[in-house]
Amino acid sequence: MFGYLFITFCDEFVVTIFFRFATKAVDNIIAGVRKMLEEVPWIKNNKQTYAGFTEKMNKLTKIIGYPDGLDDQARLDRLHADFALSANETLNSLYLKSSKFLAKSILDDRVVRRLNVASTNAVYNPFGNRIIIHLGRLQMNSQNDIPAAIYGSLGAVIGHEIIHGFDGSSVLVDYGHINPWMSPSGKVSFDSMAHCVINEYNELNYTDPNGQFYKVNGVQTAGENVADNSGLRAAYNAFLSDPE
Ligand SMILES: [Zn+2]
Repeated sequence: MFGYLFITFCDEFVVTIFFRFATKAVDNIIAGVRKMLEEVPWIKNNKQTYAGFTEKMNKLTKIIGYPDGLDDQARLDRLHADFALSANETLNSLYLKSSKFLAKSILDDRVVRRLNVASTNAVYNPFGNRIIIHLGRLQMNSQNDIPAAIYGSLGAVIGHEIIHGFDGSSVLVDYGHINPWMSPSGKVSFDSMAHCVINEYNELNYTDPNGQFYKVNGVQTAGENVADNSGLRAAYNAFLSDPE
C-alpha cells in the first residue's frame, strides 16, 4: 500500500525522465559490461568462464522503479480481496487476519510484497540474479537531464549493481543457486585480479584535521571497490555508445 501511495505522489517530471533513462540505460550498460569483458584476456580466452559470464548477463532480470503491476488498481484489489475488515475487529482478530494475509501474499507474490519502492537505494540480488533500482533512487536525482550527467550518476549506480553480479561472493552463485561456474583457471585469474584491487585500496589513507589517521581496509571493501570502478567504466562505455 505504501508503495502504491509513493508512486502516486512521486514527482512526475523527475520520475518520468529517470524512469525512461534507467529502462534504456540498463541494456546499454549491460552492453558496456560485455565490452569490458571482451577486453580481459583471461575471460575472453577461457570458454567456460566466458560462457558463465555471458549466461548470467543474459539471464539478469531487472526491476526499475517498482515491480510490474504495482500501479494496476484492479490487480491490487484482487490481492487484497481476502483482507476484508469489519467494524467489529479486535486487536487480536486484526493481528490474526493480517498475519494470515501477509503469509499467504508473501508466498503468492514475493517480489511485489517485499520491495520497498520508496527506498533511495539500488541492489543486486544474487539468488534472483536481479537488479532493482528503487523508485526512491530514481526520484533522488537532480532535475538535470543532460545525458552525460545522468550516465555519471544514475548510470554509474546501475553499472555498480550489475557488476555486483560478478563480485567475490556472486561468482559462487549462478542465477539462483550456489554453483561456482568459473573454470578453475578462471577462478585463479579472478582471485589474482581481486588481490590487485585489494592491494591498491590498502594503500589509500586519510588524516583528518585533528591528526587522526584512517586507513582503507582493502579486503573488507573489495566487492564495493570492484563494483564502483567497473560500474563507472561500464556506464562510460554505455554513454559513448548511446546515439542520443
Ligand atoms: Zn554495492
